[in-house]
Amino acid sequence: MASLQPSRKRVVLRFPIDPTRLPALADHRAFVDARQLTNLELGELAALPDLEFLELSGTETDLSPLASSPTLRHLSLDNPAHLDGLGRLKQLTSFGLYYLPRIHALDQVGELHNLQSLAISTPPSYDASRKCHRVQSFAPLARLPHLRQLVMRGILPDTDRLRPLEALVSLQTIEVTHVFAFTMEDYASLARAVPNASGHCLVPFFEAAWTGLCSRCGGARVALTAPAPRTSRTLCPRCQRKRLDAHVERWNIALGVTR
Ligand SMILES: [Zn+2]
Repeated sequence: MASLQPSRKRVVLRFPIDPTRLPALADHRAFVDARQLTNLELGELAALPDLEFLELSGTETDLSPLASSPTLRHLSLDNPAHLDGLGRLKQLTSFGLYYLPRIHALDQVGELHNLQSLAISTPPSYDASRKCHRVQSFAPLARLPHLRQLVMRGILPDTDRLRPLEALVSLQTIEVTHVFAFTMEDYASLARAVPNASGHCLVPFFEAAWTGLCSRCGGARVALTAPAPRTSRTLCPRCQRKRLDAHVERWNIALGVTR
C-alpha cells in the first residue's frame, strides 16, 4: 500500500513530456502544475509507463482520462476546482486531498471502492485560527469497505457528524484532528464501532510531547481527546491527576463501559 508520506522522490513533469527523458516513474512521485491542464494532456499522463503516484495541483478539468492508466495507484489533489471524473478512477488504492476550499461534497471519493488509504486535510495555515473546512457529510466515505488508513484533518461535516465512519470496520489507523466541534460522545461512539483501529481520537488521552514537560514535576504531559469546553487541552497526569481521572471517567461513561 502506498504510504501517505512517501519517501519516494518527487519529479516535476512539464508538457510536452518526453517519456525517453523521464526517470523510472515507479520509483517517483510525479508532480504536475495542473491549472492549465487539458483533457488531452491528462490522457498523455495516463499513458506514461509505470506511473503509480501522481500529484496534481489546481486541476480544473474532468479527471476521467486518468481511468485508462493501468498502473496509477495513488492520486493526490491540491486545491482542485471540482472532483468531476474522480469516481471513475477505480484503480486507485490511495487518495489524498489537501487544501480543498472549492470542494463541499465527497460523493466522488465514495466511488473509489478499492481505496485502502484516504487523507483529506486543510493546510497548516488553518490551524492557528482553528479554522475548519465544511463539507456536506462524511456519508460517502461509508462506501469504502477496504479503507485501512484514514486521516481527516480540519474537515467538519454539516450533517451526520462522525457517524458514517463507524461503517469502516477494516480501519487500522484513524486520525481525526483539528475539529473542535466533535464531542467526546462522537469519538467514543467511533471507538466502539472500530475496535481494531488505533488512533489518538479513539482513546481518552495520549502523550503530548509537543507541549514540553510539566514545569512543576518535569514529567511528560498528555493531551485530552475532546476536553470540556473552555478547559485546556493538555495537562500533567501526575500534578493534575484528579482532572485526568474525571476526564477518563466521562470517557468511559460515553463509551458505555460499566465499572
Ligand atoms: Zn507535573
